[in-house]
Amino acid sequence: MTSTIVKEAETRLFINNEFRPASDSGTFELKSPSTRETVAQVPEATIEDANVAVAAAKAAFPAWSALSPNVRGEYLRKLAQLILEAEDELAHLDAVSMGRPVSAYKDAKVGAQKLQYYASAGWDNHGQTSLLTPGFVNMTFKQPFGVVAAIIPWNVPVLFLVDKMAPALAAGNTIVIKSSEKAPLTCAKVAQLIQKIGFPPGVVNILSGHGHISGSTLSHHMDVRMITFTGSGRAGRLIQQAAAKSNMKNVLFELGGKSPAVIFGDADLERVAKETANSIRFNSGQVCMATSRIYVHSSIADHFLSMFKEKLQAITPGDPTDPKVDHGPQADEAQFNAVKRFIELGKKDGKLLLGGDSLPDHEGYYVQPTIFFETPENAQIMKEEIFGPVVNVNVFESEEEVIGKVNDTEYGLYASVYTRDIERALRFAKSMEAGSVGINCTSPTGAFDMPFGGWKSSGIGREGIHYSMNQYLETKTVLMRIGDS
Ligand code: NAD
Repeated sequence: MTSTIVKEAETRLFINNEFRPASDSGTFELKSPSTRETVAQVPEATIEDANVAVAAAKAAFPAWSALSPNVRGEYLRKLAQLILEAEDELAHLDAVSMGRPVSAYKDAKVGAQKLQYYASAGWDNHGQTSLLTPGFVNMTFKQPFGVVAAIIPWNVPVLFLVDKMAPALAAGNTIVIKSSEKAPLTCAKVAQLIQKIGFPPGVVNILSGHGHISGSTLSHHMDVRMITFTGSGRAGRLIQQAAAKSNMKNVLFELGGKSPAVIFGDADLERVAKETANSIRFNSGQVCMATSRIYVHSSIADHFLSMFKEKLQAITPGDPTDPKVDHGPQADEAQFNAVKRFIELGKKDGKLLLGGDSLPDHEGYYVQPTIFFETPENAQIMKEEIFGPVVNVNVFESEEEVIGKVNDTEYGLYASVYTRDIERALRFAKSMEAGSVGINCTSPTGAFDMPFGGWKSSGIGREGIHYSMNQYLETKTVLMRIGDS
């Protein structure tokens, strides 16, 4: 497992365009979830390291924010190119650190597309003017916050790094990013590319380590004016408390989900079975918008279940660095144990139809795709995010009944409805309490130019090419008297 790529991988903290160990030389162990072997010792950023990184970003801000969008954009354009060139290496590093099969690696291509977009989008940061107040010309300015902090999860690390860094930098901010302790290697690789391009020192700083140390320092920091976070509701709440306790920094949150799909008798069942199975199986169910609750109409329940089971069983598990493999392990022991705990709860509350255990003959943290049937709505596995390949299927009779169940959750990230009845589809699109609704499609289906984010406890704010940039800009009203009455 300790391939040459991993042995030579950069792991150090990236501050002021230099790589350095943690200030106290502390490290944490990164293990492969497919073999349980140690793949790297990674620096654990200290409170002091986080403070130094923020100071570097603060010092870099005046010059960076004064540049033309063209000049800032050129750095992003070069980074897009280098990320594309490093695609295989990035895929390998995530495979060995968090277990995502290289066959499912899309971060580099999608990340590069986004960087290309933001390389030009800096020119769109316009305010407004108004002549509507007699005697005045009024206007708004859009201006960067200063130092932005970004805290990201491990399931698609480079994509989240880009989603946060690209609009923040294009808007003229500087940034300190904390990677996830479960997948720090690809972020450190991107740091190498940033150094190679020669970004001005301090504009991008990347720390590795755990949330309660460097993550908490960034959330409480008085010089961080905006924090952008993707991760669990648990950490989101702590970060929001820290923001409130310190300087009331702005927050942008993309949090967890418990996404439902509703399937009516007139749906194209072959498509439904394929898409819902893919949704809960992709990345071993470790996706915020994974379809983890399915409501199927009683008229087609048996037929759907037999097709769904067949699709979920068709997996090729194994070494995630093998391009033929499409089912990897859970990201680490903690994730594995959490998923297994939910499965045991599910066995008590619902009927186990498929799976229900780790995968035999695999020493890593592999879990079988698992289906529970007819689980009571108030059971813990119906309410909480599992983040594994585990899905609940329940039967419904009426629209009114199912919409009540669909919305009876604190989460609101993604919901979908499968039906050929257009009026019913739009009734559901209106009623479902979610940031995204799929009609005859489900997650991870998205669109490049549409906003993404959560209702209710699934998030605050929206990300997306036309939506993110504004989150990284302050608005200033300027009132100018011009002398007439
Ligand atoms: P997590 O919340 O445990 O960790 C996310 C990040 O927050 C990590 O970098 C972690 O170190 C940091 N963190 C943890 N405690 C912190 C604290 N007290 N202060 C500051 N930072 C802290 O989540 P995870 O396990 O990495 O990711 C899985 C979660 O992320 C799931 O809930 C999933 O639904 C969610 N997620 C949401 C989206 C979305 O777009 N809505 C996308 C991917 C993942």
